[in-house]
Amino acid sequence: CGIVGYIGSASTEREHSALDVLMEGLRRLEYRGYDSAGVALVADGELYHRKKAGKLANLAEELEEHPVPASRLGIGHTRWATHGGPSDQNAHPQLADEGRLALIHNGIIENYAELKEEMLAKGVEFLSETDTEVAAAVLGDIYRNEGAGDLTASMQLASRRFEGAFTLLAVHVDSPDRVVASRRNSPLVVGVGEGENFLGSDVSGFIDFTKQAIELDQDQVVTITADAVEVTDFQGNPAQGKEFTVDWDA
Ligand code: GLU
Repeated sequence: CGIVGYIGSASTEREHSALDVLMEGLRRLEYRGYDSAGVALVADGELYHRKKAGKLANLAEELEEHPVPASRLGIGHTRWATHGGPSDQNAHPQLADEGRLALIHNGIIENYAELKEEMLAKGVEFLSETDTEVAAAVLGDIYRNEGAGDLTASMQLASRRFEGAFTLLAVHVDSPDRVVASRRNSPLVVGVGEGENFLGSDVSGFIDFTKQAIELDQDQVVTITADAVEVTDFQGNPAQGKEFTVDWDA
């Protein structure tokens, strides 16, 4: 299973298509094994997502039949099913906040059953059998309430509620300047570009684009914008990952 994220700026020559970066990263991460794949992109004030059980080729075909507009930010996922079998519906991204928020996840949210009860009591309807959709609902609920529309703060607050192992990446239509990620007991690396930044389960997720990387520490949240990488702990205190240069040729 693997995870990738990308944000570029409309103004640099190095600008890449978010979808191309995500699909290339997912191809590089195929060696980790997976049963489904999906992407979410934000473009022109809309969230677009495509997901398919089976090989990346199935997702590529879906994207040919149902293209998405050019975008400068998005997230991509390959799934190794743990909660809910491999199906299009259980594939990630999982959505929340009326389809305005997309979340992808590698790992297991151990306390998803009690969180699901809580969300059901708030009237949330679930479309998949995944623990991930529960995490998306919690993040969406926090974004609307105590997170006050701040995706970074909402991810910090949500991460404090999740037990288990997770690498989480989220985008929200109303926060088109950022991709926000979190990790606990599951890997996450930032790729640092010029006027663009990347996220990956490991460096192969962005090795074609940059060799400057930051490995995140346990229980950290990272926000990437086109020009900045901001790391905090789950309380929102400034934190740092470990910078390194990838020294192998892909
Ligand atoms: N537990 C999640 C699911 O079953 C994520 C699995 C993964 O790591 O890909 O959907």
